[in-house]
Amino acid sequence: MTQFAPHRARKRFGQNFLHDPGVIDRIHRAIAPREGQHLVEIGPGQGAITQGLLASGARLEVVELDNDLHPILLARFGHLPNFTLHKGDALKFDFASLADDQPLRVVGNLPYNISTPLMFHLLKQSAQIADMHFMLQKEVVQRLAAPVGGNHYGRLGIMVQYYCQVEHLFDVGPGAFSPAPKVDSAIVRLTPHAELPHRAENPGILEQVVREAFNQRRKTLRNTLRPLLDADSIAAEGLDPGLRPEQVDLAGFVRLANRLARHSGASATQKD
Ligand code: SAM
Repeated sequence: MTQFAPHRARKRFGQNFLHDPGVIDRIHRAIAPREGQHLVEIGPGQGAITQGLLASGARLEVVELDNDLHPILLARFGHLPNFTLHKGDALKFDFASLADDQPLRVVGNLPYNISTPLMFHLLKQSAQIADMHFMLQKEVVQRLAAPVGGNHYGRLGIMVQYYCQVEHLFDVGPGAFSPAPKVDSAIVRLTPHAELPHRAENPGILEQVVREAFNQRRKTLRNTLRPLLDADSIAAEGLDPGLRPEQVDLAGFVRLANRLARHSGASATQKD
């Protein structure tokens, strides 16, 4: 096996390296990469997941920010024809530019400090993405997968569920990492919808309505949405203005956003 220099984990890069072979194997089985597929790994680190992905014969491109890890990755995998290293920031990376005849399968044990903006960066490019498998804080996965009415249901889950089917696959304890994080983790699968089940005329307005609604999650829609839509407008979309935001499903929020989009500008809160 190739020898490589010991690396000190850096907090600012969200570095918690996986070392538990059982967990790594479970991740590989969840992803199930196949020869001929086109994968992208975000934050390969020292290659804990990378090695098994490459062994499948799939094409693998990795995006790593930490310059100290580049020589380690090249020493381990640089000779393999199916491996490409991109040195840089995944938040600025143009993932769609990698897509060719094969849609991308994106994977990563993500740096937790940037996981939410990174997911939204990827969702903007979801037309080129077949699926995504991420290790995230367990609490974030619970929010992503939250059904309507539950404690974890809110802005993050609604906006991600707008674009993707979300599956909470399994949990991973802190002991699987070095150094061990202070929180539990979980693996999630995000599969972009081939066709959006509920299409917002303007996703920016959907985001605005959901953000406003959950600003005060104990209040009713009538109160939280007052700056955007009045009670009659809410009722006209088939929703009781006395509901709390966590009782409104994605389809309901999309109807409210489409109403606001149609009435946006000076008359955003006017009735028909
Ligand atoms: N995949 C490795 C593993 O499972 O052991 C490392 C996971 S570690 C939680 C996160 C990785 O993402 C680190 O290698 C870190 O350097 C890298 N990283 C942090 N911020 C990044 C960014 N903005 N773009 C690309 N990689 C980043």
